Amino acid sequence: MSALRIPAAVLEAIRAHGEQTYPHECCGVLLGVEAGDGWRIDAAVKAGNTRTDAAHNRYSISPAELVRIERDARGRGLSIAGFYHSHPDHPAQWSATDFAEAHWVGCSYVITAVAGGRATVTNSFLLAGATEEDKHFEHETIELI
Ligand SMILES: [Zn+2]
Repeated sequence: MSALRIPAAVLEAIRAHGEQTYPHECCGVLLGVEAGDGWRIDAAVKAGNTRTDAAHNRYSISPAELVRIERDARGRGLSIAGFYHSHPDHPAQWSATDFAEAHWVGCSYVITAVAGGRATVTNSFLLAGATEEDKHFEHETIELI
């Protein structure tokens, strides 16, 4: 099983973001370096949720914003390690839509459940597989560093 290694302060910032945007979903990008069996996260970048039509249960980051975030990350010696979003009043489990819209094989997808405005469970899923056709989510452990 792979592990997501993340500073406690970064994890807290992700969870707080989900509380701030409740009852809408928050989303953002995780930056880090590969650590053999997973990512070591260095920072989380908040992104604007472009899904204004259904911001309570969908999230989307604009391509232009993603390009800017990736360029900034490279300048700091970091890569895009994954993405995070919140599930307002739903479990911290990936949805069929999350899976369909996940294309970054090898990246981690972090989901925080926010119940009644309070962040509860946070889970991380590695998008494993070699291609879009055999991609699948694998639950991974979260290690605070
Ligand atoms: Zn979701």
